[in-house]
Amino acid sequence: MTEYTFEQLNLIDPLMRAIRAEGYQRPTPIQARAIPSLLQGRDQLSCAQTGTGKTAAFALPILQRLVASKRPAGGGRSPRVLVLAPTRELAAQIGQSFTRYGKHTRFQVAVVFGGVVQGAQTRALRRGVDILVATPGRLLDLLQQGHARLDRIEVLVLDEADRMLDMGFVPDVRRILKAVPKKRQTLLFSATMPPDVASLASSILVDPVRLEIRPTERTADNIDQRMHFVTRANKQRLLAHLLAEDPSMQRALVFSRTKHGADRIVKQLNRVGVHGEVIHGNKSQRARERALESFRSGRARLLVATDIAARGIDVDGITHVVNFDLPNVPETYVHRIGRTARAGSSGVAVSFCDQNERGHLKDIERLIGSSIHQVADHPYAVPQPPTATMALAAGADRGTAGQPKAPTPRGRRRYGRGRNRTTSVARA
Ligand code: AMP
Repeated sequence: MTEYTFEQLNLIDPLMRAIRAEGYQRPTPIQARAIPSLLQGRDQLSCAQTGTGKTAAFALPILQRLVASKRPAGGGRSPRVLVLAPTRELAAQIGQSFTRYGKHTRFQVAVVFGGVVQGAQTRALRRGVDILVATPGRLLDLLQQGHARLDRIEVLVLDEADRMLDMGFVPDVRRILKAVPKKRQTLLFSATMPPDVASLASSILVDPVRLEIRPTERTADNIDQRMHFVTRANKQRLLAHLLAEDPSMQRALVFSRTKHGADRIVKQLNRVGVHGEVIHGNKSQRARERALESFRSGRARLLVATDIAARGIDVDGITHVVNFDLPNVPETYVHRIGRTARAGSSGVAVSFCDQNERGHLKDIERLIGSSIHQVADHPYAVPQPPTATMALAAGADRGTAGQPKAPTPRGRRRYGRGRNRTTSVARA
């Protein structure tokens, strides 16, 4: 497969700077395929899940088109872009992405969703918004009360359309569509394409470019993935054991679920003579830079990070990614292990799974469509649970990749993301 570069996608300098700051080295497959036609203003129908980099795939070309096109006269600061998402978490995440990718442009982003008082949201809308990200129910309320206007929308994005359907949002979406100008660019993303979504798509898209991104395109084949079943209490010992036994573990990025946990891991490793550094949100910018530099230069063999802090870390030659804790969002696993085996080199992803994380493992294996090789010969091994890997191996043989996933109940899905300007607008 041809590897594209961001330079080939003709993105403008303010966006390229933001991409570099994120630490992205290459466009993901969906970005490489989606961005060119979106820049031309084409409609798009994409079968792609969260975790593929789809947010940047639409946010970057949208921001670029906003920069290029003049605001229509007389609109004040009414929204030019509307993104509809099924859950507040996803909406907040998309809002944050627009803010980050657009940080060198001057567009205002607001996120509105239900379950919170509306005051801050109506104030944000009154102040003026260029990009509005919303869950359908709350947006419809705001529209009906006259707080939002959508008559200047130039681009409409429907994200996770199949989940919107599952959650019963399609009638709301259809009502919202009536308030949006007919002449616009429309994008629809959906992990699966049930008939109702296909019919919604055909009624709102004009001659769309169709893209399908399979989840398996995301896990690099050259990553050796290994699963260790271990008790929570023994994870630290197991990590020290692997470091002692495996000299190829030269530059390891270790993920911890919590900041406190990250500190503890490093402290205990340093005690047994392994130089590790830690970065997380409680560390000052200077401390983070020092830790990164030490890791980059090879002085520190390990960098322990939380997911939020690890975002944007750009370090080449990471030999091992260690999931000290398994993430509760399966896409995060794919994203984490993608830190190794970059640019054609190979890498190892080591995961620790305790009793309480077996459900996470199941979700991960379902997403990547295969079972992860279990390492049984380590001193802290616990017997393989009958329910986890084996059962999934059977599912994988039937080819679960790309199959519809059971919808995640509302509110259970979490994206361990930090707050930024966008969310505080929505939540304040
Ligand atoms: P999404 O599918 O949009 O939720 O993105 C999943 C994750 O991939 C997010 O954490 C993004 O920050 C990250 N991401 C998006 N594009 C890239 C890229 N080109 N290179 C590396 N990471 C990326």
